[in-house]
Amino acid sequence: MNTREMFAKAVDGGYAIPAFNFNNMEQLQAIIKACAETKSPVILQVSSGARKYANQTLLRYMAEGAVEYAKELGWEHPQICLHLDHGDTFELCKSCVDFGFSSVMIDGSSLPYEENIALTKKVVEYAHQYDVTVEAELGVLAGVEDDVVAEESHYTKPEEVIDFATRTGCDSLAISIGTSHGAYKFKPEQCTRDPKTGKLVPPPLAFDVLEEVEKKLPGFPIVLHGSSSVPQEYVDIINTHGGNLPDAVGIPEDQLRKAAKSAVCKINIDSDSRLAFTAAVRKVLAEKPGEFDPRKYCGPARDEMVKLYKHKIIEVLGSDGKAE
Ligand SMILES: [Zn+2]
Repeated sequence: MNTREMFAKAVDGGYAIPAFNFNNMEQLQAIIKACAETKSPVILQVSSGARKYANQTLLRYMAEGAVEYAKELGWEHPQICLHLDHGDTFELCKSCVDFGFSSVMIDGSSLPYEENIALTKKVVEYAHQYDVTVEAELGVLAGVEDDVVAEESHYTKPEEVIDFATRTGCDSLAISIGTSHGAYKFKPEQCTRDPKTGKLVPPPLAFDVLEEVEKKLPGFPIVLHGSSSVPQEYVDIINTHGGNLPDAVGIPEDQLRKAAKSAVCKINIDSDSRLAFTAAVRKVLAEKPGEFDPRKYCGPARDEMVKLYKHKIIEVLGSDGKAE
């Protein structure tokens, strides 16, 4: 399904739909299991990095298989959207629409304003012919996510959003209010340090910008990218089992919970599941050096991701029970 109905309900209900990226079978199984057990709608995201890694055709059919898998798990009416994450050209978005994706993102946020509008409008006009919904972006996020790299970030300008949404016809809008891609969302000099634990404490999100955007576009679906919280327990497991992730830091979950209650109705989480996977794999390999069957470490990694996704759905997004 596309995102239209999902978002309308989420805006009304004061919760957010999880948007989880997937690159492999274990990750997809974990997402579907967590959503089936909590009856949460879900957006499965495919980034350009995922397409290069796993092949677009294979991912498309995996997503189709996921719907059947969800039903096998006892989820009678699964609400699953297949979404292109960070499409950067009209051609890529068109190919995903033609290929059966139910939603696409066109990310023209690095372009000058008028060019972003022109590109987004072109994608919207094509996608809407096939009832495919379109996410656009205004403002620039910092951080690194697959092919998306930005050195400089700037907040979305609330005075632009009405003009942008009206002229492009986009269905949802990703905005920049201080979230960031990757596991290193902030430089140590942007943070303070907790005197007890020595861990970095990130700067707060710009809720004033979010509130201004909401005032300009009441009820319009807003999207947050780069919203992993980088759980320190995973960072610690990784670092004590041969890893090296110094000062990895994310967005505190209480801030995301607050955002989910507002017009934010899609929250993208990717790095946290990478951390859960890596922590579980490192632990098994460190504790059982003789292990060489990938199922013996990918299995625990999958279990850990199920736990993580359920936690996000229930404790952060509030989307549990919304797709009975
Ligand atoms: Zn993103």
